[in-house]
Amino acid sequence: MIDKVSLLYTDKYQTYNFGAQHPLRPLRLKLTYSLMEKLNLFKNERLTIKEPIMATQEQIERVHSSDYVSVVKRLSINPEDRIVKPYVYGLGPGDNPIFPGMYEASALVCGASILAADLVWNDDEMMVAFNPAGGLHHAQKNKASGFCIFNDIAVAIHHLKHIKKDIRIAYLDIDCHHGDGVQWLFYDDPNVLKVSFHESGKFLFPGSGNTNEIGEGRGKGFSINFPLLPGTSNRMFVKLFRYCVPRILEAYSPDLLFTQLGVDMHFNDPLTQMGLSIAAYKDIAQTLYTCNHDYCNNKWVAVGGGGYLMTVVPRAWSIFLARMLDINLPNELPEEWIQEVKKEVPYEETPYQLWDRDDRSEVQLLSHPEIAKKMIDYNNDLKKLCDEKYVPNILNGFKLTS
Ligand SMILES: [Zn+2]
Repeated sequence: MIDKVSLLYTDKYQTYNFGAQHPLRPLRLKLTYSLMEKLNLFKNERLTIKEPIMATQEQIERVHSSDYVSVVKRLSINPEDRIVKPYVYGLGPGDNPIFPGMYEASALVCGASILAADLVWNDDEMMVAFNPAGGLHHAQKNKASGFCIFNDIAVAIHHLKHIKKDIRIAYLDIDCHHGDGVQWLFYDDPNVLKVSFHESGKFLFPGSGNTNEIGEGRGKGFSINFPLLPGTSNRMFVKLFRYCVPRILEAYSPDLLFTQLGVDMHFNDPLTQMGLSIAAYKDIAQTLYTCNHDYCNNKWVAVGGGGYLMTVVPRAWSIFLARMLDINLPNELPEEWIQEVKKEVPYEETPYQLWDRDDRSEVQLLSHPEIAKKMIDYNNDLKKLCDEKYVPNILNGFKLTS
């Protein structure tokens, strides 16, 4: 067994573009690829880079209504088409602006996640495949939501179910926003375990992801949510994650692990209020790597997700890829990449190190001990919930469903 790794990439990812004023900029993917290359990750013999192709309409319609798909197609050809009412489908000015070619761009992201799933499932030597353009977890059956037109994650999961009807998949989502689209699309499905860590819906879009959303019907007990307090620090997050994730994945023991690796919990992210630094993602990558090996059949499909700083996303995702390849990177950014960032995003603070240990949120908490205590108590309650409800729910759910 040589544990091969695959990265899904094409310059055509740049076509998923809502325009210059929109926070989700495809530039982050270009800068990610560039950093991975300059860190010499592509020289590793275990890695192959694969060029994805668009998903078929049939594959997309396993998740989305044909009605919605045809509306996206029409507007993709002619954004001015007003025979359809775009706002009924979540499209238009705001989060999900209409742009020419949006059907093809969205189908390509789905196709890349399908290819990632195929590679991992069908090649015994393939341990992990990573599609950084994927992770569009908010899209729903009949509508776009939160920068997501088609839900590439759900499309890829349905593709796997099409190959193996009773496949059991653990979906783990670390994006700062709740993975609502995936949760609702598989809410009654015990064969897809949905686990989401996110900033609490009390403070952030989309508002869902509370601890009482546990699934319905046969899927009861197979939706698990960790709504976190704003300002949660590296240390607090990592402690909770390291404690809960292995227990949950061990209890479920899936055929395949599917992770959404949004990195918008970073302390500087412009859309969120969490306190993580890139050092936390290093730790998370390690936990996922170990759990995949120990509890998930050594089959891991990874997709990207949120992250709205062009200087943060590439560093975090390079750390994930390096971990997948067992490479220990020095904490030094290649000079060429620093220059590239200075040129492309002069308004962002230039980074010089790969991971920032930044303990700003810890320091802030030290000066507010009463808030720190509240946060620690809150996270301890989540741990307790994991031990007393979430893990037993999975084990009991198996009895009910089998
Ligand atoms: Zn997000």
